[in-house]
Amino acid sequence: MRFGIMTLDEVEVRGKTVLCRVDINQPIDKQTGQLKSLARVKASLPTLQELSDKGARVVILAHQGSDIEYQNYYTTAPHAAALSDLLGRPVGFIDDVCGPAAREAIRRLGDGQLLMLDNVRFCAEEQTLFEQSLRLNHQEQAKTELVRKLVPLADLYVNDAFAAAHRDQPSLCAFQQLLPSVMGRLFEQEYTVVSSLMQQPERPCVYVLGGTKVDDAFLMMRSVLDSGQVDAILTGGLVANILLAAGGQHIGQGSLQYLKQTGNDQHLEEAGALLKRHAERIQLPEDLAWVEDGKRREAALQALPHDALALDIGSHTAQRYAAVIQQARTVFVNGPMGVFEEEATALGSQLVWDALGQTPAHTVVGGGDSLSATAKFGKTGQISYLCTGGGALIRFLSGEELPVVKALRQAAGKFG
Ligand code: ADP
Ligand code: MG
Repeated sequence: MRFGIMTLDEVEVRGKTVLCRVDINQPIDKQTGQLKSLARVKASLPTLQELSDKGARVVILAHQGSDIEYQNYYTTAPHAAALSDLLGRPVGFIDDVCGPAAREAIRRLGDGQLLMLDNVRFCAEEQTLFEQSLRLNHQEQAKTELVRKLVPLADLYVNDAFAAAHRDQPSLCAFQQLLPSVMGRLFEQEYTVVSSLMQQPERPCVYVLGGTKVDDAFLMMRSVLDSGQVDAILTGGLVANILLAAGGQHIGQGSLQYLKQTGNDQHLEEAGALLKRHAERIQLPEDLAWVEDGKRREAALQALPHDALALDIGSHTAQRYAAVIQQARTVFVNGPMGVFEEEATALGSQLVWDALGQTPAHTVVGGGDSLSATAKFGKTGQISYLCTGGGALIRFLSGEELPVVKALRQAAGKFG
């Protein structure tokens, strides 16, 4: 037991049918069906390999994309192929989640064999009900089709999806009601590293928050600024643009429009309140970058063109942030400083990541795109800990008990 949750050390798996929920959600090239990154797939290997080596019949459950942002909503067939390659043993795939074909394939598994089910979010109940409108508690989730159909075939549930631990959905939170349940090795490792650094960080402790997860970022900022566990928050990406706008700064009409388009203007009031209360520890960009005729342009806020669409922090800001990171002893990062995927708007993230590579601080970088940025800037070996979770990491840092953690703890009480 660790953190009140059972681990793989406490269960016998030989000959058992084990449902293993992983988070291997990755950017996908839909033209070729290829995964554009394997970071999360690789991180999930230790648990799958251990289960297979110990003679479990391993049923892998995973999601890919969501029906809210259709571009990455896709089958998990490429993930099964990638897992086969990386594990050096076959990982079967069935294009069914919990119907008769999937159940028959599960019944046919032999000891040590692995089977990947299709994208769990193809089940309407997994996605639509829980993310958008209807909220079910974990007992109610246990009555969904996915859980009712798979539980009779299974002996054990393993959750190794730390990156999705903040999601309240049947494949993540409901099996724990009905099956003995443990966390996988990746979950255990991420929980251990992140919680120890979060509870007793060496000071100064700095958070770097960029990217687009504005609501999670603000929730987290509120709680960590109130609790005093952070000394400075360096902001970039949309998080910074909203804070700047809320503080009455000029960020360009294009940027404002983009905030509206993405529904993020609804956070302006909250951003204003955060700034009023904690201005001294929230650091904002003093300059921003935009693209004109395919070229990078930068200016101080007051000199930005009227219609600018800011897609990166400027280099003065990035240098100031780099100096803060150099002086820090603990740094948590989620979200790049700009659209780092494009050359013209990569510089802000590049300079910040260079500093992350050089600082003597403990550095934790989390989130799918943040991991891609780490690989792109060649810093993989220089970051103390790469966490698969972005949203999960920042919810975790806010001190909130994550739904998956709660469900696993309850299972320990019930079956442990
Ligand atoms: P992570 O995946 O690391 O948790 P997010 O998904 O929150 O990070 O954000 C990453 C995305 O944010 C990147 O694809 C990047 O292009 C985008 N982004 C960063 N800055 C901006 C900006 N100013 N405007 C629009 N998109 C941005
Ligand atoms: Mg992302």
